[in-house]
Amino acid sequence: MKKQFGGNYLIFGIIIGVLLGGLVGSFFPETGVTLGFLGTLFLNALKMIVLPLIIVSITLSIMKVGNLGSLGVKTLIYYLLTTCIAVFIGILVVNIIHPGVGSVVLSGEMPDIVKAKESMSLFDVLLLKFISPNLFNSAEEFEILPLIIASILFGAAFAALGRESKLIEDIFTILDKAIMKIIHWIMIFTPLGIFGLIAERIGVSGGGTAVLELAMELGKYVLSVVAGLAIHGLVVLPIILFLFAKRSPLKYAKHLSKALLTAFSTASSSATLPLTMEGVIDEAKVNPKVGRFVLPLGATINMDGTALYEAVAVIFIAQSYGIDLSIAQMVIVFFTATLAAIGAAGIPEAGLVTMVLVLQAVGLPLEGVGLILAIDWLLDRFRTTVNVWGDCIGAAVIERFEDGDSKTQ
Ligand code: ASP
Repeated sequence: MKKQFGGNYLIFGIIIGVLLGGLVGSFFPETGVTLGFLGTLFLNALKMIVLPLIIVSITLSIMKVGNLGSLGVKTLIYYLLTTCIAVFIGILVVNIIHPGVGSVVLSGEMPDIVKAKESMSLFDVLLLKFISPNLFNSAEEFEILPLIIASILFGAAFAALGRESKLIEDIFTILDKAIMKIIHWIMIFTPLGIFGLIAERIGVSGGGTAVLELAMELGKYVLSVVAGLAIHGLVVLPIILFLFAKRSPLKYAKHLSKALLTAFSTASSSATLPLTMEGVIDEAKVNPKVGRFVLPLGATINMDGTALYEAVAVIFIAQSYGIDLSIAQMVIVFFTATLAAIGAAGIPEAGLVTMVLVLQAVGLPLEGVGLILAIDWLLDRFRTTVNVWGDCIGAAVIERFEDGDSKTQ
């Protein structure tokens, strides 16, 4: 078996980066903010490679996969089912803990990012985003879904050309290898980058005590989101991995540890994608044909953590306003949270914005978002980690269904 890139050194480095970042941000917030440039450099390097990575890997995978229909359908079914399970867990947990009942924080103000999205509809979020009239604009805005769709179309067209497209397949294969090399070089800086990201974020919030106070203020809400995510990420998804992909969840998580810690530090599934692909394909040895398609798509549309969080947040807001949601309204929350998570981009706090759709669907005041805004950056990290973990498990499960005799690790 190929060794993990950077062996255990890199993982230790990252853990030290997380701890030191936490300490510096907590006790020397200003130094944390000053050192934030290390995180910015790392994040920029990841973002730089993400777009070429997506275009090359999706096109290549579609050229090589014989039956896109079968892979596509299995991927969508897996993503939809696991997202629904996540929302269901969220609804259950928030109805057991009742974090908003008797809540004293009723000073919700509509945040600016929400104001701009008041007129957003599901149609805009899901359908209109599919096809872009200008792929360069999409790339500039980091809108990944239209790029994925365009890459699928090009991949399918090259495949339809048959032998004529041999040259392009060879070029894309070489590009794919070169991109992986660059990802390995970027990964060497993961410990420093993660250190910078964490130190800066805690520093910006005024240090460890301030973050703790903030988390305590909304303690039961934070607990509901984190408990729901823990049930989904630590129990449900590992069981799915074990049962359907016949892999050990612990070993698999070890292969993915760099990606998961990066997801936590960046709060962006898309920026984490290079490490997710490296972990799933290079280290956990999932069939590249499957991983190259399933993972970029997952980073964009499969967001179990976001879906769960949106359900908890919306019901928390209703409880805080003393509004009792009926069973029918809960069902609406279930469906709209699933769709809103699919529509959320893999960037920080995207879930907070698409939550507007869920609030509108059940007639709750959009000002409610103001209640949870201050703590969102922290919860974003937890849900992004679950989002990425869900994608990784999806790749392993779908590989099994695509090719029943792949090896077990
Ligand atoms: N930050 C999340 C992600 O990138 C999306 C969200 O805001 O929930 O996966």
